[in-house]
Amino acid sequence: MADQDIKNIIIVGGGTAGWLSAAHLAKTLKSNHPDGINVTLIESPDIPTIGVGEGTVPQMRESLQYLGLSETDFIRECNVTFKQSIKFEGWLHTASKGDGQNSYHHVFDYPSVSSLDLTPYWLLDKAKELSYVDAVTVQGKICDLGLGPKLITHKEFDGFTNYAYHLDAAKFSEFLTKHAVNNLGVDRRLTKVVDIMLHDDGSVKSVRTDSEGELEADFFVDCTGFSSLIMEKKLGVGFIDKSDVLFVDHALAAQVPYPKNDDAIPCATLSSAQEAGWIWDIGLSDRRGTGYVYSSKYSSHERAEEVFRNYLRPTIGALADELTCRSIKMKIGYREKFWHKNCVAIGLSQGFVEPLEATGLLIFDATARMLAEQFPAQKSSFPAVAERFNALVNNAWERVIDFVKLHYYLSERDDHSFWTDNRDKNSVPESLLKHLEIWKSGCPSAYDFPSRFEVFTKENYYYILYGMHFNTDIKRIKYRYQNSEKAEKEFQYIQKLTVELSGTLIKHRDLIERIKAYGLQKL
Ligand SMILES: Cc1cc2nc3c(=O)[nH]c(=O)nc-3n(C[C@H](O)[C@H](O)[C@H](O)COP(=O)(O)OP(=O)(O)OC[C@H]3O[C@@H](n4cnc5c(N)ncnc54)[C@H](O)[C@@H]3O)c2cc1C
Repeated sequence: MADQDIKNIIIVGGGTAGWLSAAHLAKTLKSNHPDGINVTLIESPDIPTIGVGEGTVPQMRESLQYLGLSETDFIRECNVTFKQSIKFEGWLHTASKGDGQNSYHHVFDYPSVSSLDLTPYWLLDKAKELSYVDAVTVQGKICDLGLGPKLITHKEFDGFTNYAYHLDAAKFSEFLTKHAVNNLGVDRRLTKVVDIMLHDDGSVKSVRTDSEGELEADFFVDCTGFSSLIMEKKLGVGFIDKSDVLFVDHALAAQVPYPKNDDAIPCATLSSAQEAGWIWDIGLSDRRGTGYVYSSKYSSHERAEEVFRNYLRPTIGALADELTCRSIKMKIGYREKFWHKNCVAIGLSQGFVEPLEATGLLIFDATARMLAEQFPAQKSSFPAVAERFNALVNNAWERVIDFVKLHYYLSERDDHSFWTDNRDKNSVPESLLKHLEIWKSGCPSAYDFPSRFEVFTKENYYYILYGMHFNTDIKRIKYRYQNSEKAEKEFQYIQKLTVELSGTLIKHRDLIERIKAYGLQKL
């Protein structure tokens, strides 16, 4: 490959991953500037996007701000609601067993009000009459009360509590498209790629399209979804299958109306454990998005449909039996390489694990940003930058798999072999088993998550471990925690704040309606 400047990037694929990549690349590489890099996005009008992916994590807030998007417009145009937590229902044990407490929150607020980490003090019984989440933060209660994370008087992207969003995936793609084309200088081509041409060294030279001829570029981004047109089909980059660790491989998805227009909108994604997987239930401003993610090894498709319709019936009645469910086959795992020659895969073409912790958009947004920020000035730097990029993205996938598997491994459900097999140590990554061994006698610490680019941190682990009653016994090292008095005051302060905020914050649906009507103040 000749050592030349890079002037053109082609992205193939116009799903959420394609448009997030286009926006990050065009913004950072200054496509609007005469010396900037041109970004072209090709999307086929005949091949639909996957059309699911409605839950996000708080990093999305940072990205929207960075890309220069308005939170008010986003809420108005993408049927957005706020997400403050994932509420796990029925994950601890089989419903007929245990002490009745069978749900917990993974919230986004830090488990502290100062620099003092309250977790060891909670473990030492300082606030044990309360669940972990209710002792260390207000957010679980705020969610249970159906309250929003902010008021109409807050500025865009600001709030009392840390939050992410629920969004309509198709509308979000349109929203990003408009911004990327009108404001960031992305060139959009509606055409289908029918062939890919290579240079002698195996790098990508151009794509042949069915209506716009051959389009050349210096660099390509494969955002073609599960089909992975360039990375897998043309460049032959392999896929590391992880279905032996995470068993779910199918989803049934359905959009469901609210029974009444003024129904409460939950401020958390609801994740309900089922016999061979779990059901997500997301409240958007105009409808619910629901889906059953299950393992075809442990359930027939007919049985999965029955389980899904049974779940929906109590809230939508007879409609549950008439509803059309979309069936989606999922490939669980990730690519052997994410950057190969002059091509990077972002989105479902890069990898996928079940959406239990909304990691899809999180990883794709993070890798798009990472690519844009470290984009080389010349082609000769590709191999070195690619090596670093591949190592970072590989680590992100490995850590996501550990984190998702943790939810299954800690479950005591025994109603179905899907759950008991998930606890078979042979199916658990070594890295997770080692961490759990350490955490038996000490809390997760920053040393367990040494990369600056960790997807999940010790705080995320706290909420799952202690929400699921994992036993970290720190009595032997009690003497190391000498801030009991301060911790006690902070536990009390959190309870006081919970009461105060319960009176200040308004219902989630009211908040969304007010934002739609009046807008939020710009930053
Ligand atoms: C069941 C399920 C639930 C999910 N839930 C969540 C969630 O809650 N949160 C989350 O963050 N993520 C979630 N995800 C992941 C999320 O859906 C994806 O991250 C996101 O939609 C990105 O998809 P994509 O852009 O990679 O692919 P797609 O949406 O499939 O887009 C592929 C694009 O490539 C184009 N294309 C394909 N072939 C060609 C061709 N030959 N020529 C031109 N264009 C072509 C298509 O036209 C399309 O524009 C979920 C995924 C699944 C399967």
